[in-house]
Amino acid sequence: MQTIENPQDYTGRYDFSDKQFAAACKLIPGGVNSPVRSFKGVNGSPIFITGAEGAVIQDVDDNQYIDYVGSWGPMILGHANPHIIDAVQNIVPLGLSFGAPTDRETCLADFICDRHKNMEMVRLVNSGTEATMSAIRLARGYTGKKRVIKFDGCYHGHGDSLLVAAGSGAVTQGIPGSGGIPEELANLTTVVPYNDLKATEVVFEKFDDIACLIVEPVAGNMGCVPPQEGFLQGLQKLCNENDVVFIVDEVMTGFRVHKGSAQTLYNIKPDLACFGKIIGGGMPLAAYGGKKEIMKKLSPLGDVYQAGTLAGNPIAVTAGIATVEQLTTKTYEELENTACYLEQGIKRLFEISATPLSINRVGSMLTLFFMPKAPTNFAEAQQYDKKMFDAFFHEMLENGVYLPPSPYETWFVSTSHTKEMIDLTLKAVETTLNKIKTG
Ligand SMILES: *Cc1c(COP(=O)(O)O)cnc(C)c1O
Repeated sequence: MQTIENPQDYTGRYDFSDKQFAAACKLIPGGVNSPVRSFKGVNGSPIFITGAEGAVIQDVDDNQYIDYVGSWGPMILGHANPHIIDAVQNIVPLGLSFGAPTDRETCLADFICDRHKNMEMVRLVNSGTEATMSAIRLARGYTGKKRVIKFDGCYHGHGDSLLVAAGSGAVTQGIPGSGGIPEELANLTTVVPYNDLKATEVVFEKFDDIACLIVEPVAGNMGCVPPQEGFLQGLQKLCNENDVVFIVDEVMTGFRVHKGSAQTLYNIKPDLACFGKIIGGGMPLAAYGGKKEIMKKLSPLGDVYQAGTLAGNPIAVTAGIATVEQLTTKTYEELENTACYLEQGIKRLFEISATPLSINRVGSMLTLFFMPKAPTNFAEAQQYDKKMFDAFFHEMLENGVYLPPSPYETWFVSTSHTKEMIDLTLKAVETTLNKIKTG
């Protein structure tokens, strides 16, 4: 570990973070273990974190921020939720991993199946990427077909077949199609604009080798972009009529937009769905599940192989159960009220300052777009005012609000965001807008 030679030399607001980032950059590519954490997109360097509680996160320079990143989605109950921490602390002394089944895995599977009508069986994995990647393999194995349909700006983890026109960190870093993916494989993925049912129909007419269609039911990785009326239902119908597996990627929306996730909120029936983020309560845990008939193709029952040394890890599963068991209908009513109050407050302040802004919001997911009209797809989402975004991001950080460092991300409101904290956030927005106006 680097030592600070003269602590009295470190008087700037981000000195210790900058120092730790410089050290990290020597050993870790870009200094981060996931590109979204870098502030490269906003020409800055990331703050390094010491801990967090509730809606407040603290950096190594002892600055405190109201956090709207929420570990990119999992922290729906805020950081260090006492019930989750207790559950984990109670179970840790029994051992960290066994590589053999525990009843806790069945308990979490039961939660997922109970809350989602179409989930009959689930398999637990370690990350959202693993869930989507495995769901696609399963769909290919089940149908005997090979093409994948995805939507422009949707992010489904970094599996090879899905890193084509991807959102989130991929597009922030300027590489929506990643290097290192064979053209032969990328050619098996067809990309359609989000919310464009007509274009999807055309693709379904053109190809007869489609194994699956995968979609974010509320896009959250091009900023928050909700599905238009009838879009998801239309996709479901197309899939059903063409023997295409309908995969709903709920890694972000699962337990986020409704206690039965987006599939319940929008009344759709996925053949397979993927979960992650919230179901691990902050631990590495994800899942995919769906119709028994399809899930039974998985090894050891069927011939589609997928495995994991740490899959269904007992500590992660414990954190997951302790999270979802706290999520009730009332939780989502509270989140809706808080997030609505935040949205209305921000809109009012932008109106007063005559700065163009639109906000997309679904429950506790929201994104500010620096443009007059809210986007409905990725091409539109890219029309934002970049200079304005960068200035807003940095000034909000200065004023104690930690936001995702990219316009293609979603803010997450948690149950720990009290009215007082929203008011403080609005105060920061007001200060930020005044500062930007006066240049
Ligand atoms: C975050 C995310 C993933 C990837 O999950 P990881 O755990 O980061 O691998 C996949 N799909 C969606 C919709 C996501 O938001």
